[in-house]
Amino acid sequence: MNYDILLKFGEIALKGANRAYFENTLQKQIRFRIKPYGKFEVFKSQSTICVRPLSDECDLDGAYEVCKKTFGVIALCRAYECEKDIEEIKALAVSLAPELLSGAKTFKVEAKRSDKRFPYDSPAICAEVGAAVLASYHAVKVDVHEPDVVIRVEIRDEKAYVSGAQEKGAGGMPVWTNGKALLLLSGGIDSPVAGHMICRRGVKLEVVHFESFPYTSERALEKVKDLANILAEYNGEICFHTVSVTKIQEAIMKNCDEEYFTLILRRFMMRIAERIANERNCKALVTGESVGQVASQTIDALNVTNSAVSVPVFRPCIGMDKEEIVQRSRQIGAYDLSILPFEDCCTVFTPRHPKTKPALENVLKEESRIDIEALTEEAVASHRSEWIKAY
Ligand code: ATP
Ligand code: MG
Repeated sequence: MNYDILLKFGEIALKGANRAYFENTLQKQIRFRIKPYGKFEVFKSQSTICVRPLSDECDLDGAYEVCKKTFGVIALCRAYECEKDIEEIKALAVSLAPELLSGAKTFKVEAKRSDKRFPYDSPAICAEVGAAVLASYHAVKVDVHEPDVVIRVEIRDEKAYVSGAQEKGAGGMPVWTNGKALLLLSGGIDSPVAGHMICRRGVKLEVVHFESFPYTSERALEKVKDLANILAEYNGEICFHTVSVTKIQEAIMKNCDEEYFTLILRRFMMRIAERIANERNCKALVTGESVGQVASQTIDALNVTNSAVSVPVFRPCIGMDKEEIVQRSRQIGAYDLSILPFEDCCTVFTPRHPKTKPALENVLKEESRIDIEALTEEAVASHRSEWIKAY
């Protein structure tokens, strides 16, 4: 049976005078994102966005999954339409009951009557529809406090709707409503989560990845692109920049004290990322760092890393435990990929005893032995860019 997808938006509703801008952006994005799934009409009706199929060929479940991954949507449900007639509404609820109530022991009906001309008020609608469902579906009982399933009836201006369980959406704000940032994406668990969190705040992401071929492999790079692909399901198409740091790492190894290898490399990453961000109009960098996680993420080390750039650096995982980051990683579908064992340029030349309390002056002394500007410029100039689309 065909259904409409009803989308509720969260924070956008608080946007006052800018509300229309946020709502229109969200609608445009939904229209664009569901294009591959057939012809749909997308419109706003009383603080809900309705996605309505225009033919029987539409892949509704596919479109539903896309809506579920669209930031700005706080909740969504499938809604089946009928005439504004209590008998029709009851018949529709009864016909949907096996599907909606499958596996449930208890249910309740919730009614919302936006059209106050409808002759039954909300409690009366609940009583009528609840009784009809109970009479034809004996396996369930009513529980108004903690039901397994809520059947929602909405009487709107044009039609009535019966909908099933309201599911949580991706939340946040529509992508692009908050500018653009550049994510430093490694193949690990943390950086995809960091990217997802910032993107969820309406920030469009571009990605930079540092490789160290031949010390890192082609397959390691492919894995990172696969991770970018997962982010693209939320972010939309991603501009993916690959930068080789092989020459930089060799220069560091040859000239600098081993204790500082990782820190000096991280400062190069920041400088290179800052320049690409400037070129691409990205207003901040995003990393997956979390305070104290490894030697290069102590407060002292983070300060040393930060002082290489002046662009803001967002670290949304900064106060999260690894367990919490892992949980988020699973939720966004990145975890299984992230744990595939491929090398990263940071791990290729890990010092045996990295400095956990580095002093900036010592780092600067080490860096004075190499040509920072020339190496940075060369790496930026030879970076490669491509577009990564969602699957
Ligand atoms: P992750 O799990 O994301 O790999 P991590 O815990 O392994 O993070 P580090 O390797 O120290 O930590 O990296 C810290 C952050 O630096 C990463 O979260 C990422 O933002 C960035 N980073 C590290 N390696 C790379 C790389 N090869 N390319 C791009 N960014 C990187
Ligand atoms: Mg890493």
